[in-house]
Amino acid sequence: MTDGLGPRLETPLFEQVTLIGIGLIGSSLARVTQRKGLATRIVAYDSDPDVRAQVERLGLADVVAPSAEKAVQNADLVLLCAPVGAMGAIAKTIAPHLAPGTIVSDVGSVKAAVIQSVASRLPENVHFVPAHPVAGTEYSGPAAGFATLFLNRWCILTPTPEIDAQALARITAFWTAAGANVEMMKATHHDLVLAITSHVPHLIAYNIVGTAADLETVTQSEVIKFSAGGFRDFTRIASSDPTMWRDIFLNNKPAVIEMLGRFTEDLIALQRMIRHDDGEGLFNLFTRTRAIRRTIIEQGQETAAPDFGRRQPEDTE
Ligand code: NAP
Repeated sequence: MTDGLGPRLETPLFEQVTLIGIGLIGSSLARVTQRKGLATRIVAYDSDPDVRAQVERLGLADVVAPSAEKAVQNADLVLLCAPVGAMGAIAKTIAPHLAPGTIVSDVGSVKAAVIQSVASRLPENVHFVPAHPVAGTEYSGPAAGFATLFLNRWCILTPTPEIDAQALARITAFWTAAGANVEMMKATHHDLVLAITSHVPHLIAYNIVGTAADLETVTQSEVIKFSAGGFRDFTRIASSDPTMWRDIFLNNKPAVIEMLGRFTEDLIALQRMIRHDDGEGLFNLFTRTRAIRRTIIEQGQETAAPDFGRRQPEDTE
């Protein structure tokens, strides 16, 4: 059965891709680079020695480097795949070791803060192309990745006006070959859009699961026992990596606070509808939201299978 990624490239796009941070995203990039022949050589580095050993065992790279400095030597593409809060320090460490003309890109879920912390630390003769693949799961670590993670998903590039056109074209070609659809937008716009589509929903999930866990009257076992009724989907989102999400909220503060303000106002309006028996208001909103899900399915960003396609045959609800 075909995986949908199409044939290997006849000519690799890069000589050496260096991946820094080999978790879900970094390891998926290693896998799709191998599967599609996007680079002649993959060099990997992760700050965690256990992860480095795992990367060796899984055969995800040609070379597992002992340091970020060593990893970037001879690279024509460096992809920063660590949590957003670590990007600036990594850029500072690797900067003196980058060859002129190297393309540096990232996968961070926040763009304006990453551009600020990374671009200022890189030498002028290096091209920085900020990127965010809008694809992921709630799992982390190198074993969680898979080659088709980016297939038919969006990868948003947020180039600054002075970006090198050739570097931008090469990164676009890389993500396209990895199966993604590439879209460009301003970093601040990206951060606002992602605040409402991804960051605030995660915050709500963390909050609702935290609230349920704190409730004295609903014991832990009852929360688990009756979790099928909607709560379970929140627990999936709320199990996402704590470091990654802490960094996202601390680095996308203005946009998240703005969207959280709007969300809170709408929540109060819903509370009022319930208090005043406004069934029509509730019905109208729920009808509108149902239509949004249909559009997402039509655009191929979700499956129409019950329970997001995750339901197992033995599941009962
Ligand atoms: P992950 O599975 O937790 O992997 C991140 C890896 O980077 C970990 O092994 C971590 O090691 C390592 N790391 C941390 N600091 C480092 C440093 N200074 N140098 C080298 N390695 C370092 O995370 P992920 O889900 O792949 O996310 C990585 C990036 O992708 C984040 O910026 C995130 O915002 C972005 N992203 C994630 C998703 C998603 O759904 N997961 C989607 C799109 C974009 P330790 O565990 O020891 O810290």
